[in-house]
Amino acid sequence: MKHEDCIFCKIIDGEIPSAKVYEDDHVYAFLDISQVTKGHTLIIPKTHTKNIYETPAAVASELFARVPAISNAIKKTYKPIGMNLLNNNEAPADQSVFHLHIHLIPRYGENDGYSSNWITHGDDYTSDDLQQIAKDISNAIE
Ligand code: AMP
Ligand code: ZN
Repeated sequence: MKHEDCIFCKIIDGEIPSAKVYEDDHVYAFLDISQVTKGHTLIIPKTHTKNIYETPAAVASELFARVPAISNAIKKTYKPIGMNLLNNNEAPADQSVFHLHIHLIPRYGENDGYSSNWITHGDDYTSDDLQQIAKDISNAIE
């Protein structure tokens, strides 16, 4: 299940050092070395999976099941005023490490280091457009 040349598999195995936050049979959580904000944590499945597309539902389940407890631990410890969860898939979407991970980014206020620049396009779509898009995606669910 370990993937050769995967830096996060090496972190799980202890071949590369990390600041470990949590570990059990299914997941490993550690501080992101970039620390966008204080306490910025990554949670990863112990099973190597490249990103969300390739992740079996059971692995996703185990992974997300641990997110609330770790988020609450960060909240209790550093008293952030909010928390963003982030998961990047594929390089054009800013994935730089190809072992699935969820970023837990505690928020401390404006200019705390995190930003997301959403440009909304809701006005470009009629409700019929939205129904059609929903149907297209729905039909493709396996
Ligand atoms: P992403 O861009 O979503 O693929 O996120 C990958 C994250 O992994 C980045 O935020 C990096 O700072 C982080 N990262 C890379 N190498 C390490 C490492 N050795 N220890 C901790 N975090 C790392
Ligand atoms: Zn890996």
